[in-house]
This record gives sequence, C-alpha cells and structure tokens, in this order.
Amino acid sequence: MEQALKENIHFMWLSGMSYPDHNTINRFRSERLQGVLKEVFSQVVHFLAENGYVTLKEIYLDGTKLEANANRYTFVWGRGLRSSRERIGKQLKELWSYAERVAREELADTGEDSFEQINPQKVKEVIEQIDQALKGRKVDKKVRQKLKYARKRWPENLEKYEQLEQQMVKRNSFSKTDPDATFMRMKEDHMRNGQLKPGYNWQISTQNQYILGYTLHQTPNDTTTLAEHINQFEQHLGVKPQAVVADAGYGSEENYTFLEYKRIEPYVKYNYFHKEQSKKWKEDPSRIDNLYYNEEKDCFYCPMGQSMTFVKEFETTTDNGFKQTKRVYQAENCSGCPMRGPCHKGKSNRKIEVNLALMRYKKKVRELLNSEQGLYYRSKRPVEPEAVFGMIKNNRHYRRFLLRGLDKVEIEAGLLCLAHNIKKMAG
Ligand code: SF4
Repeated sequence: MEQALKENIHFMWLSGMSYPDHNTINRFRSERLQGVLKEVFSQVVHFLAENGYVTLKEIYLDGTKLEANANRYTFVWGRGLRSSRERIGKQLKELWSYAERVAREELADTGEDSFEQINPQKVKEVIEQIDQALKGRKVDKKVRQKLKYARKRWPENLEKYEQLEQQMVKRNSFSKTDPDATFMRMKEDHMRNGQLKPGYNWQISTQNQYILGYTLHQTPNDTTTLAEHINQFEQHLGVKPQAVVADAGYGSEENYTFLEYKRIEPYVKYNYFHKEQSKKWKEDPSRIDNLYYNEEKDCFYCPMGQSMTFVKEFETTTDNGFKQTKRVYQAENCSGCPMRGPCHKGKSNRKIEVNLALMRYKKKVRELLNSEQGLYYRSKRPVEPEAVFGMIKNNRHYRRFLLRGLDKVEIEAGLLCLAHNIKKMAG
C-alpha cells in the first residue's frame, strides 16, 4: 500500500496525496481500528439498508474455517495436558507407596491418600515429606534418581500445564505461535479431504450477498456460534432480524430455544431434515419420529399400537452449559411381537429416549421450512453466505489470515467484509 500510494494514481486520489509509510498503515489497522471497526461496518450496513440493497429482516447465516497465521506444528492439546498431569499424579503415588513401604511410621500421620487433584505446591510438599521420611535409609538408586528429577521438574512442569490450560478456555487445542487459534479440520478440496490446522471459525450473515454481520469464534462447531452472532448483530445494528436461515449445522435445541426467546423465526434445518421426508424413513418402525405421542397421557404408541409409558427423566448439559431434559419411555410387553426385528432388536421391551422440547421445535421448524416462505428461503440459501465465502476465498485467494490474535484477526475479517460490501455495491 505504501508503494501504491506513491505510484498508483487511484491510490493517490483516494489518499488525497498523503503518503503514510507501511508502519503507519499497520498501526492504523491493528491499533486505531480496534473497537471502532464494527461501528464503521454497521454504518455501511445501515447505508445499504437505507438505499434498498438489503432489508435486515431475514439473514442467511453460515461459517467457514480460515487458517490462522500460526505454525501448524506447534500445537498444545488439552488431552495431552491432562494425561501429562495424570502421569505426574500416578508417579507421585508410586513414590509415596514406596516411601510408605520403607518408612511407614514417618508417614503415618500425614493423611495423604489422593494424588488425583495435584498442584505445584502439593507436589513440592509431598516430595519434601518423602525426602524427610527416606532420610538416612537405604533407598533404591532408581528411586533416588526419580525423586531428584521430580523435585527439579514436576512443580515447574505443573505450573506450565496450568498456564497452558488457562489459555485453552473451553477448547481442546491451540497453537503456540497464536494461542487464540484453535486446531480445526479444514476442508481442503471438493472431496472434503482435510487436515487439522490452527484457524478461526468465521461466521457471517448475509442478504443479497451483502455481509450484514460477522463474528470470529474459537470453536470449530457452528452450533455454538449462533447466539453470539445474533446478539452481536443486534448490539451493533440496533435491530434484530425477523428470520434466520441456516443449515443443519445450527439445528439444536439450544439454538431453537434462543431464537424462540428472541422471537426470531427459525428457518434452521436439523439433522435428518431431508432424510425424514423419504418414504423409507417414514415407513421405518424403529424411528422415534414415526411413533405417535399422546401429550395428554404423556405416552408414545408403538407400531403395534401398544402404549409406551414414562420410565424416568434425566438431564444432560451441552458445551455451552445449556441443560437438556431427556425422557425415557418403555413398551409394556414386546415378547412374541411380529414386529420384533424391524422395530426393536434388544431382548427386553423396547425403550426410547426422547427430548420432548426438541421434538416440539422440530415440528414447528418442519412446518416453517415446508411453507411457501420456507421454500423460498431454502432455494436462496445456497447462493448466500457460501457464495460470499467463495468470492473471498477463491476469487480473491484469501485463504489465510495475516495477523495473529483474536482481536487483530477480527479487524482483518472486518476489513474484508467491509471491502466486500463496498466492492459489491460499486458493481
Ligand atoms: S417390538 Fe415392542 S415396541 Fe415394537 S411394535 Fe412390537 S410391541 Fe411395539
């Protein structure tokens, strides 16, 4: 840009003949735009709305995973940290057991019995206790070496693991060269062959191929990103959309509940939305969706017309902390039933696990998606966010972020969105 400002007449006209150097341009991008770019972007979106390019009423939401500017071989895995920590706990326990065998009376009153919850301080104290207990006694050479190593390295290693775990924040991995980047499986080609690379989950909502909102996320799943995206949309634009159109990656009870609470129409598919409309699916007696539910009596009816009554209820929690209630129903007697096999293969009476809230949402969403409006949205969705990502990633060859850190990557993504809208508006 610095060079273009001196050589390119279009750039000269744009800058009003001023020639900032690359450091100034870079500082402007990473410091001056911090916290204000979303506001600038929102003004452009309002301009688009006022001039009839978009309406802000319905949004098409989708995401892509874009590689971070990070070394793809310097990764930290949550599982690796947990197992390293567990290994120290296990070895500490072995040392403790050895010391107890050799010097039981010295360790009798210490009350140590669990090494599952360890921290650097506890490890230091336990090693000190073992040292004291073994003092002056004949100790195996290998144990002496292990104790020396443990004293020197374990507290320090545990401190390092704790720091790394803090950086993990609800993730399973991150890159050492950009700790905000998470390892995600990127689709590399049309055959969906991909590999794990550090990256960001970039979500956009579009209408008429204009970008109306963008957010950056550190989780690879799209499901967990919807609420934050809509909240940010509302916060920055001051309006909330009336309808959201998205693919099955967003169809979860948590998202449907959120959209219902926000009074936004959910044109959001769920898993098996297409499959469940096939003849084969509809005639499959093993599918819970094909069983009739009597709300008044709170029971299902199996393919043979037998009532399946309530047995128990339990709760599960999603990664976002959302609580889901599942209910179990069981048929009274399946023995000798001619439907055994296609309906139910187990030895006992058929048992089903149902999420009634999700079932209710799916019914509503099914009606919406099959309505005239729903069919229109469904026909438009494939040429909305996916086409915009295609323009940015394939036509403009933007396949990797240039900056490091979530804040800076957010600015970079914001500039790309802003440029996309202006370029599209200019034709
Ligand atoms: S196997 Fe059990 S649940 Fe299935 S149709 Fe027969 S009686 Fe009903």
